[in-house]
Amino acid sequence: MRLYQLDSYATRFQARVERAWSDPKGHHAVLSQTLFYPESGGQPADTGVLRGPFGEVRVLHAYEEEKAFGDVVHVLSAPVPEGVEVEGEIDWPRRFRHMQRHTAQHLLSQALLRAGGYHTVAVSLDSPVCTVDLEEEAEEEGIQKAEALANFAVYADYPVEAFFVSEEELAQYPLRRPPKVRGKVRLVRIGDFDLAACGGTHLKTSAQAGPIKVLRWERYKGGTRVYFAAGWEALEDYHAKHALLSRLALAFSTHPLELEKPIKRLQEELYALKGENLALGEALVEALLPGPWRRKPSSCRPLFWRSWPRNSSPGAGRPSSWFLRRGASPSSAPGAKRSWRGSRPWGPRGAARRWSRGPCPGSGWRRPWGL
Ligand SMILES: [Zn+2]
Repeated sequence: MRLYQLDSYATRFQARVERAWSDPKGHHAVLSQTLFYPESGGQPADTGVLRGPFGEVRVLHAYEEEKAFGDVVHVLSAPVPEGVEVEGEIDWPRRFRHMQRHTAQHLLSQALLRAGGYHTVAVSLDSPVCTVDLEEEAEEEGIQKAEALANFAVYADYPVEAFFVSEEELAQYPLRRPPKVRGKVRLVRIGDFDLAACGGTHLKTSAQAGPIKVLRWERYKGGTRVYFAAGWEALEDYHAKHALLSRLALAFSTHPLELEKPIKRLQEELYALKGENLALGEALVEALLPGPWRRKPSSCRPLFWRSWPRNSSPGAGRPSSWFLRRGASPSSAPGAKRSWRGSRPWGPRGAARRWSRGPCPGSGWRRPWGL
């Protein structure tokens, strides 16, 4: 019997070891009844301990022998004998977080459906950052509305109840998504907000799942993958980010919400200095080389421009690099032609054109014609 389906807040239970075996994958036991939730439906398994005449062994994992209706197999840290009475205790803080993730996922999936018509096709609740996969390509506005709606459902403090219905009765219930199992189906109702078939563990009220924060989303398998955090884990995420922003704000002597300005300014200065550094280095090497080995400026200009960061602001750091470059060019000499193609002292016409079009070959240094 799966006791967690009757009371998801119970933490201890008594049971008898019905089957026990060891194999290369570890030590296993099936109990007469259990509170340990087996990994399924995107929710991770419970962990905890079993106590008995053998002492105490840790429950490392639990899984279903057969989907939905099979026995729950407990993976143990040490072997236990068959037939003995045991007391089991689950790791409650871990379970409570799983219940927060899971209940929040119900609320968010319903909110996504109501706000944007987005259908949930898969979920993952393995880590503090959970995911909901949507069938559709979601828009930013729809996701933001859904996040707000999910949190309204949290503050509405809806009761959460679970009950079993037969397959024939299912038609009476407007489910968010059709059940994956047949026969007797377990439904989970969150007030009049959400109704879905689910075998997982849930909170008593929607309020315990909050806050629910969408962290980001991306295109995934033709639909959308939405990342979110809920409950304690959303609070921890907020705490970590707030602490980081506060440290940065202190370093820049500004308000956390004003940090973009000094960081952008720093970026622009960095790009400008990089550009100047590059130009100065090139100019220095060029000045040290004998005449025929010097770079032909126009042919190397594409290389110079390519090294310029695309997102730097126009003009930042450009003047000095620009004049250094032009200063090295004969075209800046008094009376000289502006175009390099007009005065080509290093080779035939075709060669000059080839050099002057694309980026500099190799290191960007021109081999003098004929050498
Ligand atoms: Zn559920």
